[in-house]
Amino acid sequence: MSKTIFSKIIDKEIPADIVYEDDLVLAFRDIAPQAPVHILVIPKKPILNLKYVELEDQELLGHLLLSVKKIAQQQGLANGYRVVINNGQDAGQTVDHLHLHILAGRSLQWPPG
Ligand code: AMP
Repeated sequence: MSKTIFSKIIDKEIPADIVYEDDLVLAFRDIAPQAPVHILVIPKKPILNLKYVELEDQELLGHLLLSVKKIAQQQGLANGYRVVINNGQDAGQTVDHLHLHILAGRSLQWPPG
């Protein structure tokens, strides 16, 4: 399988505005922001989406959410934020590497489009 754009960002082959990184995850600003703050949090392990997670990924999945909390604190998102995972075609997933969107900085509507 060929490398996704996010795997290239992890390997620093293409640039990104990185806001957080540790051994397991990387977070960077979305190139086409849908809110004043739009950050993507991804596992370094190339998982396509939630359909492909396994029991062995349990700790990694928890780590992703704890990273969201840490990033939200670092970014000062005191008024709240939305976390979105688009899975598959109907959800509008365009990059085949699991990613959590953090959206903040404006009032967000519900239901989403
Ligand atoms: P999704 O539609 O849920 O698959 O989200 C993919 C997201 O990746 C979109 O919001 C894109 O704007 C974003 N994106 C695509 N390429 C890049 C890139 N090179 N750097 C940062 N964000 C990107």
